[in-house]
Amino acid sequence: MSAEPRLFIDQPLSGGARLELDRDAAHYLVNVMRLKPGAPVRLFNGRDGEWRAQVAEAGKRAAALSVSERLRAQAASPDVHLYFAPVKRARTDFIVEKATELGAGLIGPVMTRRTNAERVRTDRLAATAREAAEQTERLDLPVIAEPVALDRLIAGWDPARRLIFCDEAGEEGEKPWGGEAGRARPIREALEDRRDEGPWAILIGPEGGFDASERELLRAQGFVVPVSLGPRILRADTAAAAALSVWQAVRGDWG
Ligand code: SAH
Repeated sequence: MSAEPRLFIDQPLSGGARLELDRDAAHYLVNVMRLKPGAPVRLFNGRDGEWRAQVAEAGKRAAALSVSERLRAQAASPDVHLYFAPVKRARTDFIVEKATELGAGLIGPVMTRRTNAERVRTDRLAATAREAAEQTERLDLPVIAEPVALDRLIAGWDPARRLIFCDEAGEEGEKPWGGEAGRARPIREALEDRRDEGPWAILIGPEGGFDASERELLRAQGFVVPVSLGPRILRADTAAAAALSVWQAVRGDWG
């Protein structure tokens, strides 16, 4: 990682523009990064690509940047969303950070029967996503969606978007993990088999898993693609990173 700061800034970027920074950004550049006038930074806003800029003014309370040239054009990212049942705070932060690094376009908390998370602070998740996007060289930020109940998410779903349902369980209730019968197909096989070019999403359950009625609801939907992530039970944060990685390798921009 280079020491040169790379910042998301929600202002139009163009050559010659002067950008007045808000208090937080000014504090970060002047007091935390200790940048002096003339120091180079890189900027992106999710729309205009990535730009070179220099510190134009570095006061205690006010700072400004002057934008010089464009370094990279805005490019479309693969269209994949991540929905997950929020877990404990540190693991939820981890999911948001890793999903941002792995290129998710939207990250959405989903409330399921067995979700027992404290209140979900989407403002904190957005700050985590922004930091991860700055350091991972993305040209955009993922959208952080407001928490939604699973049945409402499914009722309002756009069927053109395939939903990869990470489902570890089989159908034999009395056996550990529900036995082998009715197990979902391995994720890679399921993704390689699909010809649809459309957009995708991934759904990860809570630490206690989805309950039987939720699994039934999900499997009844034509847009749902149930998949297995192999013969080990993964924690929700690991499952999210693993599923996104396989998706990027098979359908996304790792090719
Ligand atoms: N039902 C489990 C654990 C759930 S793990 C139990 O309590 O024993 C949390 C979530 O990660 C699951 O809901 C699922 O979406 C995903 N997951 C974990 N391991 C998986 C696997 N091997 N295959 C598919 N999904 C998995």
